[in-house]
Amino acid sequence: MTTRVVLATKNRKKLDELRRILDTEGLDVELLGTDAFPELPDVPETESSFEGNALLKAREVAKATGLPAVADDSGLCVDALNGMPGIFSARWAGRHGDDEANLDLLLGQLNDVPDRRRSAAFHCAAAVALPDGTERVVEGRLEGFILRERRGSNGFGYDPIFLPFGYHVTTAEMTSEEKDAISHRGQAMRSLAPVLRDLLGT
Ligand code: IMP
Repeated sequence: MTTRVVLATKNRKKLDELRRILDTEGLDVELLGTDAFPELPDVPETESSFEGNALLKAREVAKATGLPAVADDSGLCVDALNGMPGIFSARWAGRHGDDEANLDLLLGQLNDVPDRRRSAAFHCAAAVALPDGTERVVEGRLEGFILRERRGSNGFGYDPIFLPFGYHVTTAEMTSEEKDAISHRGQAMRSLAPVLRDLLGT
């Protein structure tokens, strides 16, 4: 029988991405978004790590729906800023999801930082929680440099200023397939497939 799993997101792109990955891995699961459960409250990200926030969201959704739940949390960690914006990436400039303001603020903060110290990494933690309390977390990471100006218009968030190590294009100049193949989220989501297979027996 097909197992139903809830992904703790209303973001259709994330849902489609994980569906594609689980399909490729041959998992027999029906992946639902939280929009299939309108009564679910939003879970605030109150923990101090990507892992903590991903687990918190997965746990709450599993408890509320009675179904296995998956959640992710991600962000950009800049070495010259001691790992910030980190878990505050989405709201670095103060308003949740204001990508342009976040980019402007980060570029301003790094204005005087020389090229050799502009290293950074995207991080992603993906958690699975079962209604019986079983939990697992996997991670993905993409290392690179912060540029001084935006390049490219694909992707979202900090993509226009992020140049992965070994590439001549930013993650905003890649197609979504190229980015998925190397990205922190792609890695974490691919690592989830065997974990789900193991936990759900699918
Ligand atoms: P969330 O995990 O969806 O809450 O995303 C956190 C924030 O981290 C986003 O709003 C972006 O600012 C940043 N971020 C996470 N992943 C990426 C990425 O792949 N590209 C660019 N920015 C990202």
